[in-house]
Amino acid sequence: MIDSSIEMAHEIARVARRAGYDAHACTDYEDFSRRYDAETSVVVIDLMLTEPDGVEIIRALSGHRSPAGVILTSRFDPRVLGAAERLARAQKLWVIGTLTKPFSDSVLENMLANVEQTAVERTLKFKAFPKLEDLRAGIERDELRVYFQPKIHLHELRINSVEALVRWQHPSLGLLSPDRFIEMSEEGGLINAVTSAVMEKSFAQCSDWLTGGLDLKVSINVSTRSLTDLELPDKISALARRHNIRPEQVVLEITESWLRNDHVAALDILTRLRIKGFDLSIDDYGTGYSTMQQLQEFPFCELKLDRTFVSDAHRNPDSRAIVESSIRLGHELKLRVVAEGIATQTDWDLVSRLGCDEGQGFFIARPMPGKDMPDWLDRWQATLGDGTRG
Ligand code: C2E
Ligand code: MG
Ligand code: MG
Repeated sequence: MIDSSIEMAHEIARVARRAGYDAHACTDYEDFSRRYDAETSVVVIDLMLTEPDGVEIIRALSGHRSPAGVILTSRFDPRVLGAAERLARAQKLWVIGTLTKPFSDSVLENMLANVEQTAVERTLKFKAFPKLEDLRAGIERDELRVYFQPKIHLHELRINSVEALVRWQHPSLGLLSPDRFIEMSEEGGLINAVTSAVMEKSFAQCSDWLTGGLDLKVSINVSTRSLTDLELPDKISALARRHNIRPEQVVLEITESWLRNDHVAALDILTRLRIKGFDLSIDDYGTGYSTMQQLQEFPFCELKLDRTFVSDAHRNPDSRAIVESSIRLGHELKLRVVAEGIATQTDWDLVSRLGCDEGQGFFIARPMPGKDMPDWLDRWQATLGDGTRG
């Protein structure tokens, strides 16, 4: 562990030794570099460290692709600690937690207690990352599945739309979530194949529901990497027609980094999709490249607030301010505002009170296979009837 005050570093080392670690206190980088090796399981970094500072240490650990767990500490305002944490995660470090000084021994002990078990699980998960070629074969073998998560109208409590979320039924690794393969598919040129499979399955499912008397809109995630194919609007229209789906029934949620893409092509494709009657949503609003500029420039109908702000808003005034101002901005721009990641009654109450139009989250329902949706909706209606929701 590296700490700016030698007393503090020794104190942290003492707690770590009590938790069974072979711990060393370092107050400068040279000492740390001498001691750090592939066996290092945890690094506690004080952001106040001067030459180099804590952020530079984060960068160095990331450069070494360090598998160690990182605990960040600081006497600074929690915002700085939060920013450093996000930075470390973005640099693919494993952040165990953050500690604002002064903190009690027991908090640090708790953080250190589960490191070994979690490290083993993480290694297994990492090793279990599938390869691009497996995904290509998996798509050909029709191993992609689509789960659906209901979106609720927060005031009228009706459910008339769902989001389609891809899964991969891997032959040996089980059901994989998109964080295990979407990025790889984007980087390896397979994202269009994934989007086509998801669209095909979602439209077929919508059409089945409609036959059973259930008229649901479906939101499909479209990576901006797919917004380079100028034929995309025609392909989506043809697919919808083939399944007897009206364009108004389809919301395209645009995700991911805009800047890397061809801006003119994106504008061409999104404008034509709107002209053809499809609904457009800006996903994960407030993070990454989903910004106000895109709101003004592209013909969106819906703003989807990122779940990190929604789930944090009840305890963090900054997140709450972002939620509140995004809702206001969305409404000023005549957009429908959707909160994702409503995980508790508190989240629900807060976003409803702040005037959000629609919501989605584990508190309402987890994503489920399409065949389960009619029964789930019946149960939902029943809980509304007995007054246990809303
Ligand atoms: P997203 O589009 O923002 O989807 C919402 C994610 O939040 C889903 O994760 C959903 O299961 C999760 N979620 C919903 N409510 C809660 C909650 O209350 N708490 C928590 N902790 N999580 C909640 P999932 O299915 O793992 O998808 C992750 C991301 O993968 C999606 O984020 C989307 O960006 C991407 N993705 C999913 N399906 C597709 C797809 O077909 N194509 C593309 N390009 N991306 C996809
Ligand atoms: Mg989405
Ligand atoms: Mg999202």
